Amino acid sequence: AKSAGRNTLRFYDPAMQEAMLARAALETSLRAGLQRGEVEIYLQPVVDAERRVVGAEALARWQHPERGNVPPAEFIPLAEQCGLIHQLGGHVLQAACDQLVRWSRSPASSTLKISVNVSARQFHQADFVRQVTDIIDRSGARADLLKLELTESVLLDDVEATIVKMTELKAHGVCFSIDDFGTGYSSLAYLKRLPLDELKIDRSFVADVLTHPNDATIVRTILALAQAFSLDVVAEGVETEEQRQFLMQHGCALFQGYLFGRPVAVGQFELTGD
Ligand code: C2E
Ligand code: CA
Ligand code: CA
Ligand code: CA
Repeated sequence: AKSAGRNTLRFYDPAMQEAMLARAALETSLRAGLQRGEVEIYLQPVVDAERRVVGAEALARWQHPERGNVPPAEFIPLAEQCGLIHQLGGHVLQAACDQLVRWSRSPASSTLKISVNVSARQFHQADFVRQVTDIIDRSGARADLLKLELTESVLLDDVEATIVKMTELKAHGVCFSIDDFGTGYSSLAYLKRLPLDELKIDRSFVADVLTHPNDATIVRTILALAQAFSLDVVAEGVETEEQRQFLMQHGCALFQGYLFGRPVAVGQFELTGD
């Protein structure tokens, strides 16, 4: 019985089983939470060289009744794994379009853009294009003020299918950005082939731009590349004035980071970046 107990322990690691149960519980409560409207978007400003707010990135937040504000790093991967990402992503898109419509009513905010993160599994859903265009059309938002942020891995997963989807959405007016640029399998070939508008420099490069020469080189290279391909560049994770100066000197015109504003609830969003 003793050795059987040991074997049992080996095959059913209690810690692992506990983790699995915790995950299943989290999945159940995310499903319910989505239904109850506990997932909302926060907005983080994107500013130009004069610190004028030109748009915002929508970042999902889950207000869990007991656990409080659950960070996206915890529930986005879970939503991807359990198939809830389609619903969650639709919810985020809807919230972003609703905000665009609210902003459209005032001249001071009517040209602000909103960027929405799209995960791999969401993008590769068969009806992704329909999901996005339906939400835009029903909300009455201007499609050209909606930007979808895709990562390099999403783009390279199935390049031909990706080009088809992007081209269809582009025809509808939607803009595209490559998120965390430089961290994935960068290929110059797709920069030319994809209907892109913007690159976002990953904040890991921005963080070390003044202290690590290699990161400075990467940042300068991305800025030069973007210029050659006529793409906008947003530097993300800008936290210090020195980082902003370096980026400006090398031609960066758009910035996002705690220096200008943290992500805030939509009602808290203000039109100045400081
Ligand atoms: P991301 O798309 O790279 O978003 C930027 C993250 O950096 C956000 O974290 C933001 O709060 C944080 N950040 C912004 N400025 C600074 C700064 O100056 N310093 C530092 N240290 N961090 C900064 P957050 O909100 O926790 O989101 C984490 C990730 O979760 C996002 O990374 C994105 O990949 C994912 N995510 C968030 N919302 C959604 C969503 O609606 N759908 C999908 N598919 N993914 C989402
Ligand atoms: Ca992003
Ligand atoms: Ca990013
Ligand atoms: Ca990132």
